[in-house]
Amino acid sequence: MPSVITHSLVGVVAGREMMGKNTPKRFLILSAVCPSLPDLDIIGFWFGVAYGDFFGHRGFFHSPFFALLLSILVVCVFFRDHKFLSRPWCLLVGIFFIINASHGLLDAFTNGGLGIALLSPFDSSRYFFPFRPILASPIGIETIFNRWRLMALISEIKWVWLPLGLLILAIRIIRAQKSEPT
Ligand SMILES: [Zn+2]
Repeated sequence: MPSVITHSLVGVVAGREMMGKNTPKRFLILSAVCPSLPDLDIIGFWFGVAYGDFFGHRGFFHSPFFALLLSILVVCVFFRDHKFLSRPWCLLVGIFFIINASHGLLDAFTNGGLGIALLSPFDSSRYFFPFRPILASPIGIETIFNRWRLMALISEIKWVWLPLGLLILAIRIIRAQKSEPT
């Protein structure tokens, strides 16, 4: 898995870009927290849930389906000012869905562990993308400061942070050109 830092960074940066200038603080906090939640499925190891099980690591909680459920829950609980199924409500759910689903998709670019149950709950098969350049980050607190984790972070900077930064730069340049008076 990419590190918590990378999942949260992608959420905040992508979310802020999609929301625009007047992004509420609660949105920023939630966009940092929510994309990292799927990795809490490692708690299942302590209760005898096997890696490859339905609720195992990279299983149901890493699927886009769960990302959608989480997005609906977050918007219903933290954005009650938006009327259920109104246009702003749907837009916010859509933005959270992109942020939350990014976790499973990024994990599918990593080179270690089992694949991701991207089609769960309809199909529990595990999937990877054919191109897997991101070094999988080790699981567990005891490995927070080791060489492997550092190498994984460097590969995340190279394959996630930099492309994301370039994408946002390109979007901003295009936006600026469009808003220039002709
Ligand atoms: Zn993960």
